[in-house]
Amino acid sequence: MNSRWTRWSVLGIPYESADNDYTPIDAEKTLFVGNKEVAHNRYTLQTLAITLMVAVCAKDMTALAVDLRPDNCRFHHIDAEDSPHEDLMAHFDRAVDLIDEELVDRGGRVMVWCGAGWSRSVTIVAAYLMRRDRCTGDEALELIRRVRPKINPNAGFVAQLRLYHEMNYRLDVTHREYRVFAVIALRRRVWTDKYWSDTRVGALQRQFSEPMRRYFHKMAKSVAKRESPPVVAITGAKTGRYHCRDCDGVVADELNVLRTADADSGHGSGAEECDKMFVEPMEWMLPSICVQKKGDLLCGNCSVPLGAFKWKAFKCDCLLHQPLQDSTVFKIMKTQVVYK
Ligand SMILES: [Zn+2]
Ligand SMILES: [Zn+2]
Repeated sequence: MNSRWTRWSVLGIPYESADNDYTPIDAEKTLFVGNKEVAHNRYTLQTLAITLMVAVCAKDMTALAVDLRPDNCRFHHIDAEDSPHEDLMAHFDRAVDLIDEELVDRGGRVMVWCGAGWSRSVTIVAAYLMRRDRCTGDEALELIRRVRPKINPNAGFVAQLRLYHEMNYRLDVTHREYRVFAVIALRRRVWTDKYWSDTRVGALQRQFSEPMRRYFHKMAKSVAKRESPPVVAITGAKTGRYHCRDCDGVVADELNVLRTADADSGHGSGAEECDKMFVEPMEWMLPSICVQKKGDLLCGNCSVPLGAFKWKAFKCDCLLHQPLQDSTVFKIMKTQVVYK
């Protein structure tokens, strides 16, 4: 029992707030989408017998909801903004697993909520319905729209649902398109961040480290390590790596090179078209890319210049790189590396 609810109970005013806005998605009323007001209304949550809340919002919005939740109601938080560039997809698997477990294994009831109950929460519920029904993102959204017509997931989330379908309802960090998306999400976050307006380097690095840390954590299974890249085990077929021409140190694995589905035929594809390749951020770059908006990319081993980076992204007019759009941040000159 928390103090706030105790006060309400003593006064005897459990109530259904006018700001409550929620919709059962299924006929059995076990899965709901709602806004943040309903998440703070213990009376409503108790009446609906909610046993799991999935909160899709900034962290500072959850404290009171955690406090006010009914006894035995579990809580799962997804820290995400309602922005087309937010990587909500990174949270799909865990959320879908939890919802499925709650509804199927425990026979519970789930409330997924965000600010308005239109975009973030709807996207999470759509991901759940997709895997459950083996359907597309559009079909899942249509199912929700039938009972909650005002839903309005942002275009970036709709695209993430499409990619989730393509990955067969499990996040696949080795998927080319996902890797390009992850770099764009990171670039957007870093480039638009107030980070750059701050001139204190120590503070800069602390702020900067958060999106970067999250990025590397997410990609940890496959990001190249200079000594023993784990990529080989994951991709199986692709064993090639790019080495520094001067010192032979490993610069990148094949998987670290950004490609679109069109150009996904491995090493050599489009090699004649462009003298550059664009890669993901890698840990050996960190000393340079954390403290400047743009600069040289030096070999982490021998410090010879391999290329350059620009958080605003480079423009490359070749056909190969046009579809990569704004993920072209880290450029390596092919003349500086050897593929073997
Ligand atoms: Zn080198
Ligand atoms: Zn190019």
